[in-house]
Amino acid sequence: NSVQVSVLGLGAMGSALADALVKAGYEITCWNRSPGKADDLVARGAKAADTAGDAVRAGQLVIACLLDHASVHEVLDPLSDQLAGRTLVNVTTTSPAQSRELADWAARAGVTYLDGGIMAVPSMIGRPGASILCSGSADAFHQHKPLLDLWGTATYFGEDAGLASLYDLALLAGMYVMFAGFMHGAAMVAPAGVTAGEFASMATPWLTAMTGAFEEFATVIDGGDYTVEGQQSLQFADLGDLLAASSAQGISTEVVAMVQRLVQRQIDAGHGEEGFARIIESIKQPG
Ligand code: NDP
Repeated sequence: NSVQVSVLGLGAMGSALADALVKAGYEITCWNRSPGKADDLVARGAKAADTAGDAVRAGQLVIACLLDHASVHEVLDPLSDQLAGRTLVNVTTTSPAQSRELADWAARAGVTYLDGGIMAVPSMIGRPGASILCSGSADAFHQHKPLLDLWGTATYFGEDAGLASLYDLALLAGMYVMFAGFMHGAAMVAPAGVTAGEFASMATPWLTAMTGAFEEFATVIDGGDYTVEGQQSLQFADLGDLLAASSAQGISTEVVAMVQRLVQRQIDAGHGEEGFARIIESIKQPG
């Protein structure tokens, strides 16, 4: 591992990333705004820099894992001259627009830029299930893929630096709505004396099995024809029973009503006989 790597930011995530690099035998130089956070890493062979500038100068590859977009600018703006000619991998969480802004900033400074989104909590780094979403410089991605793969399976989406963040947020959107669905089910059975744990033991295998539907929906959506045979129709998926049962349990109907509204808009537009996947049209064209 001849590439000299610098890690800026040793919070919970930055420390986990740096730790994985040290374990893999990389020579790394770390920096953190507040002192003391590099001690464990130094004990295991890493170098610690007193300033972010010293860290940047020590690495050909500079990894930033700071709090947010503003903190990346705060740390790197004064160092643009030192960063020129180096590669910056920014795994700090930023919005697609912020990632593009940083890529433009880097381009003006002569810095090769790769944006990364981490789909993992720190304890998952280097373990199965972690993934690293990347966009920006293709050269940087291909050159440093072995390093990125140490953290989690690294996937590249394209030169538009905002894509990794967009994927990241899209995956989180799917996760939060699924979580809300689980909470709704748990709230529905709670008045019947069912614990959340009992419900979870039924919901986990059910929802896991249902994720198989994603690929089937995707085939219909990408095919552009919602009338293909064998799908559950929108008419059939009318969620009135779920709403009525939820109300009867005395709980909020918001989660299910949201899905019902998406279904209803397509039924109202005359597509009731078509497949459930068609609700994506309600989402693509806000009502
Ligand atoms: P922490 O709060 O643990 O650490 C934040 C880090 O940013 C610290 O090193 C902190 O330094 C530094 N920092 C904050 N503001 C500044 C600033 N103005 N100038 C310099 N350094 C600054 O956060 P995490 O390590 O958990 O998260 C880091 C990034 O990783 C975030 O963007 C987060 O969204 C992302 N991420 C985190 C995940 C997680 O599960 N933790 C999951 C996926 C992404 P100091 O020690 O001096 O305060």
